[in-house]
Amino acid sequence: MKKITVLGSTGSIGTQTLEIVREQEDIKILALAAGRNIDLLEKQIREFRPELAAVWEEADAKTLRAKVKDLPVRVESGMDGLIDAAVMPECEIVVTAIVGMIGIRPTIAAIQAKKSIALANKETLVTAGHLIMPLAQQYGVPVLPVDSEHSAIFQALNGETGNKVHKILLTASGGPFRGRNWEQLREIRVEDALKHPNWNMGKKITIDSATMVNKGLEVMEAKWLFGTNLDQIQVVVQPQSVIHSMAEFEDGSIIAQLGTPDMRLPIQYALYYPKRRPLSGRRLDFFELGSITFEKPDMDTFEGLKLAYKAAEQGGNMPAVFNAANESAVAKFLKREISFLEITQIINECMLNCAYIKDPDLDEILDTEHAVREWIESRW
Ligand code: NDP
Repeated sequence: MKKITVLGSTGSIGTQTLEIVREQEDIKILALAAGRNIDLLEKQIREFRPELAAVWEEADAKTLRAKVKDLPVRVESGMDGLIDAAVMPECEIVVTAIVGMIGIRPTIAAIQAKKSIALANKETLVTAGHLIMPLAQQYGVPVLPVDSEHSAIFQALNGETGNKVHKILLTASGGPFRGRNWEQLREIRVEDALKHPNWNMGKKITIDSATMVNKGLEVMEAKWLFGTNLDQIQVVVQPQSVIHSMAEFEDGSIIAQLGTPDMRLPIQYALYYPKRRPLSGRRLDFFELGSITFEKPDMDTFEGLKLAYKAAEQGGNMPAVFNAANESAVAKFLKREISFLEITQIINECMLNCAYIKDPDLDEILDTEHAVREWIESRW
């Protein structure tokens, strides 16, 4: 039995990870961690029987303890609970499927405890990649991408050690508003932005896809995962979402990974790497698909992508500023406190106004996050 922990088990990636566990029958769940959805977490505890369950608020932990008092499960709360879940002694792989920068500390703790990381939580790598990747190397721990684009690149690079990558071609669906101009984006409502054409995901990443901030975060994630320069990462809009990304080598050969838009595939690939396993679900039918089309991203309308390249070029704590500003702005948009276009406007203003730190340590990254949130709260 493979032994794993799932951080963010009640979310989109978390529940799909548990679908794989259910289907494969040779994975044991040691710990589950979630935020506030204790009803679903209780069901997951009853089905998968972890030794530890963690939730964010102590009050929720108390309620959950009462609900599962018939089971031999420890229930913890807060950052200590998340970290304890990440370092369970027998655990081999930690699936980091929490949303946001809150994932940084548990990911670091898991690496230091020599757990393989199946990384969905891109915000961790975007903001602290300069700490996470060397640490993983130091502890001899693999960071296996779960994000479909990065899994595709990872698969394309398989067996290519020593061969020079010329370019990474990161594909993008373009989101629900592809082809629209600024004027047309003015009146976008939360409901519109939550309708992604191809993927069914958590709310935050769905909004990030609509602004194309998600693609910007993925550019930064790719830079850290594959050790490439920014100018080697090119975003290619491919609206059907069947090419999940590509790697171009120095001889001009391009290797792509294709499949239906189904996150279970990259999750399962990370869990069983380097082995492949059967997976239920629809297969790609090229005759039904007919054609695959390509476009340049519109970075003038979808400024999130342009700002992400700028943040990545500046480096230091700027990716943390970019990410923290986006997390706060998206939360405000979801609460209908700001408009759709204000999301990137806020990111831009934060990048122009926040103090720059060249080589931030973990505390400085977390302080940056705090400062950005406070600054946004005081203005919007
Ligand atoms: P969801 O919003 O669906 O799920 C987020 C998970 O994080 C939930 O389980 C939530 O718990 C948990 N969580 C939130 N806050 C806390 C907290 N303070 N403590 C503990 N747990 C917490 O997000 P997704 O699954 O869509 O995304 C997760 C990550 O994966 C993100 O970083 C995203 O960018 C990345 N990703 C997602 C993809 C997708 O297809 N969904 C694709 C590629 C990457 P609860 O709901 O109980 O509050």
